[in-house]
Amino acid sequence: MTDKTLGDATIAIHGGEGRRVLGQPVAAPIVTATSFFTHPDAAGFSASDLKANAPHFYTRWSNPTLALLEGRLAALEGGEAAVSFASGMAAIAALFLGRLGTGDHLLLSDVCYAGVAEFAHHTLPKLGIEVSAVDTSSPHAVSAAMRTNTRLVHIETPANPILKLTDMAAIAQVAHAGGAELSVDSTIATPIGTKPLAFGADYVCHSLTKYLCGHGDALGGAIIGKAELLAELRKEQLIHMGGALAPFSAYLIFRGMETLAPRMALHEANARKLEAFLATHPKVRKVLWPGSARHPQYELAQRQMRNFSGLLSFSVRADGQGMARQLAERLKLISYAVSLGSTKSLCFFIPTDDILKSSFRLDGTAEAKYREWAGDGVFRLSAGLEDAEDLLADLEQALD
Ligand SMILES: *Cc1c(COP(=O)(O)O)cnc(C)c1O
Repeated sequence: MTDKTLGDATIAIHGGEGRRVLGQPVAAPIVTATSFFTHPDAAGFSASDLKANAPHFYTRWSNPTLALLEGRLAALEGGEAAVSFASGMAAIAALFLGRLGTGDHLLLSDVCYAGVAEFAHHTLPKLGIEVSAVDTSSPHAVSAAMRTNTRLVHIETPANPILKLTDMAAIAQVAHAGGAELSVDSTIATPIGTKPLAFGADYVCHSLTKYLCGHGDALGGAIIGKAELLAELRKEQLIHMGGALAPFSAYLIFRGMETLAPRMALHEANARKLEAFLATHPKVRKVLWPGSARHPQYELAQRQMRNFSGLLSFSVRADGQGMARQLAERLKLISYAVSLGSTKSLCFFIPTDDILKSSFRLDGTAEAKYREWAGDGVFRLSAGLEDAEDLLADLEQALD
């Protein structure tokens, strides 16, 4: 059931379902089997013996519970196929290692998930892969940063932690004109917010740990895109590097995904109220949320997003570190904790000096631009599903 005329809320509950068979369980089964899938013939043992539509063989190759999740993710993103991984990092690392080799160039967004930036800047160069960062909010800057050996352009929109946006259609054009592929980390937007493949991306990356699972109780990741390219990724990266998703986690994520559409509407509604409150708070220097007309790229957000998600970031006028300690001590409902996309509201401070040094490695105007958005640090606030009035009251007493 991948009928394109179905709505997202319906696809989140039925997408990827096969034809109804009488007596079939209505809820997803957790198939815990690892190696015990019986085979009708003497299948080869090598990953390269894997045929399209081969029966399940070993859970690191494929598994019925993972297949259900992958089918639904592909349906939600409007992609041909999906491959699941043990975490978002496992998925993105697999994609980079699968698509890039010695002598190739990766062009990376100058602001993105810290783990992705660190893996790209610290680890890939050891393998002879060139990596450079660029402000992907400017298609001209991306065009100028393309090299003859650029194979992959990786962006994140909205991007951690300052929620800067990238024009996906414009960057897809620039990447393809230069003979490169485009991957989009759409973890913050979710398929309810946007569908990067429809804007020309070759791959969508998700940390399933966040909104797709939605309850903060399972790690997972996925890449969605063309079936042929994902079959290669499964063979060479999933099977051989081994970062397979556990069936129990896949079940939790699959179950969480059924309520993705109504949850995103509630996350967005709460974020809208928190943004309005923070925007007029005397201690707040800047608040960034793509659903607000105060966001500097509001027009782009309107063009490529249909839900603005529940993540916002703000900086304070004085001493971010001091305010971080104050919030950690005083917040009662909102947890002072990392991550995002849970039922529970979360808040965490990301000091600018630290993230520039450890993750982004920016200098010159790129550093100045980041500091303009982030000040001495940003509080990343993930609006949960509590009553908005209670969240506002908690934040107000803690900021006071
Ligand atoms: C959390 C996150 C990741 C990493 O995902 P894990 O599941 O924690 O490995 C990657 N990208 C973004 C945007 C994230 O928020």
